[in-house]
Amino acid sequence: MILLKILSDYSLNELYVLLAEYKKFRAKQVFDAIIQSKDYEETNLPKSMIESLKSEYILKPIHIYKVLTSKDGTKKYLLRLYDDNLIECVFLKQNYGNTICLSTQVGCRMGCKFCASTQNGLIRNLSAGEMLSTISVVNADNGKCTDRNFTNIVLMGSGEPFDNYDNVVKWLELITDENGFHLSERNISLSTCGLVDKIYQFADLKFNITLCVSLHATNDETRKQIMPIANRYSIDEIIEALKYYISKNNRRVVFEYCLIKGTNDSFENAKELSNLTKGLNCHVNVICLNANGGALKATTKGEAYAFVKKLNELGVSATLRRSQGNDIEGACGMLRAKTLNDSKN
Ligand code: SAH
Repeated sequence: MILLKILSDYSLNELYVLLAEYKKFRAKQVFDAIIQSKDYEETNLPKSMIESLKSEYILKPIHIYKVLTSKDGTKKYLLRLYDDNLIECVFLKQNYGNTICLSTQVGCRMGCKFCASTQNGLIRNLSAGEMLSTISVVNADNGKCTDRNFTNIVLMGSGEPFDNYDNVVKWLELITDENGFHLSERNISLSTCGLVDKIYQFADLKFNITLCVSLHATNDETRKQIMPIANRYSIDEIIEALKYYISKNNRRVVFEYCLIKGTNDSFENAKELSNLTKGLNCHVNVICLNANGGALKATTKGEAYAFVKKLNELGVSATLRRSQGNDIEGACGMLRAKTLNDSKN
């Protein structure tokens, strides 16, 4: 089998080099086709060029397999990759603009107890181009393909972005490219379970994005019970790395804190959290667990509000995140996991 390469893995400048045998504007046409989610037949490229490119390169590596639309307008996409793997992407309609939640890997190997994305382990990384094409496909499905129909992207879908570091960094360059979507770095959030060495490495690149850390516990003992990565890095090491990140980027960091009944939702935990975050330029996004039918149970809405109120009283900037798309397997990896399980049965 000849392994095909993916054209969206190339920046416009790289396409100029790759397609140097053609007239210069052809590279821009290819780049525009990538951004507009077009396949060969939908472009104005000459037939001979298409034939020759096709034997080596995929232009559109991602297709919509299934879309679920929530009562609140949230759309959850199950997308098929060229090798038939499935990934998820979520389009969230918001007053201040639309947000796309992007996956960075097929599956995940971090093993967090509450997260459906990791149930079947890691299949493979997504390439930078596959992540770019995910955005193109979803963008084109939500308005004119020549417009940018979203204002924000969060890397909070399936996968651990820092476990696919190089491709994610390349994707950041592609998505912010002024010839393409030209998204401002400020409108991008990257969420990590806390790969400390990568936080340092990433800080030095000085991207102006918002760095989010999935904390979910206020001490290492509890964190180890729900997040295997806690055996590798302590919370103190994460906080030190974040201080370094803030010193380099001067950006507020965000903690995600998913409330799990009886595990991390006591007022004692709120106090511990306020001690951990003291003096750090940060915000805490509190989320209620999307219970998945697993052993871990969600804290009630009322208790969640009380937890956030307690944090606020202790001087912590914290809000309860409105959960969208609950009726459509909204949480990370749930739709893919369900589809994979259904096809097994
Ligand atoms: N691997 C990265 C990014 C993906 S997860 C990370 O860990 O940050 C994006 C967010 O969704 C994380 O904070 C994750 O913990 C949370 N999440 C996953 N499953 C969830 C569930 N069942 N209910 C609520 N939040 C969940």
